[in-house]
Amino acid sequence: MCLNRRVFAYAKSIYDIEIQFFTQQGVEYLLIDLDNTLDSYRLYYPTLRAINYINSLIDAGIKPIIVSNNRGKRVKTYSNFLQIDCISQAMKPFPKKIIEYLKANDISHDKVMIIGDQLMTDVGAANAANIRVVLTDKIVSEDQWTTRFNRLFDRPLRKRMEKQGKLPNWRTLYGKS
Ligand SMILES: [Mg+2]
Repeated sequence: MCLNRRVFAYAKSIYDIEIQFFTQQGVEYLLIDLDNTLDSYRLYYPTLRAINYINSLIDAGIKPIIVSNNRGKRVKTYSNFLQIDCISQAMKPFPKKIIEYLKANDISHDKVMIIGDQLMTDVGAANAANIRVVLTDKIVSEDQWTTRFNRLFDRPLRKRMEKQGKLPNWRTLYGKS
C-alpha cells in the first residue's frame, strides 16, 4: 500500500469551507464523498445542512457530484433528493470510475476537486486520478466496520502528515491568493 499521500488542503469539515475558496481555486466540479463528509452513513436523505451547502455550491456555479463507495440504492436516493449526479460503488481508492465519469462528461481534471474524510479512499483515489483533494475530519463519530479498519491507518498517517506540514489549512491557501 502506498502511504505517500498528497493533500491539497485540510478542513475540519466541508461545512467550514467558504464556497469562494472553490471558485478561487478554479473549481467547477466538486466530487464529494458522502459518508462522514456530508452526512452519516445511516442517512438515506440529506440533512438540511447538506441541502443548504449543496445549493450554495450550485448557486456559485459549481457542480457537486456525490462519489461514494457505498451501494447504489442509498447513494442514489440521497443524491436524487438533491437532484445531483452520483458515482456509487466508486471503489475508491481506485480512480477508474471517477476517471470514466470525467471522460464521459468531457471534464478536464484541473477544474475538479475532490473532498472526503479518508486518506485511504478519498485521498488515494484523488492522487491516483491526479485531482486536487481536500481532506476533512469525519463529521460524526460512528463508522461502518470497513471504515473502522481504514481508520487504523488513517489516524497515525494523518498525525505524521500534520507534523510534516503536509496538511495545509484551506484558510491559509484562501488567504494567500
Ligand atoms: Mg467518508
